[in-house]
Amino acid sequence: MRLKSNLKKRTVELLEERGVRLEDIAELTHYLQKKYIPKLTMEDCLTSVRAVIEKREVQTAVITGIEIDMACEKGLFGPELTEMLTTDYPLYGIDEILVLSIVNIYGTIGLTNFGYIDKVKPLIIGEIDKKGKTEGKCHTFLDDIVGAIAAAAASRIAHGQGD
Ligand code: MG
Repeated sequence: MRLKSNLKKRTVELLEERGVRLEDIAELTHYLQKKYIPKLTMEDCLTSVRAVIEKREVQTAVITGIEIDMACEKGLFGPELTEMLTTDYPLYGIDEILVLSIVNIYGTIGLTNFGYIDKVKPLIIGEIDKKGKTEGKCHTFLDDIVGAIAAAAASRIAHGQGD
């Protein structure tokens, strides 16, 4: 079935289209894990991010979330949803719910990591957040998607599956 190989390709394409390289996500993973594993390299983190991206539940969440951000920028939704998405309405919460399928693939450490990244907004997450607040841009799902992939990749390393 062609869909299977297309999903991974589309996942990476959409992230790049929205200004996120896998290397940027790997930097976040490194940021999360370096205090526990001092010898951890960027290459280890990139390998882990690539492994996370291989998962079907990750691909479907990434494609769904980013396409919602993009559809919002195109003005395809009704006024209430558009306002909630463009202002990143704090009580919306569906963005965080969507990415739980990514966060949980390597157990509950992922949730702790994700919560931390979401609060501190380091590196690329901060940039996404800032750009999302500019006129006509919607990054409501993108920030959570990127944080969730980084958190899952960090959990994978923590569980020793990166060896
Ligand atoms: Mg969000």
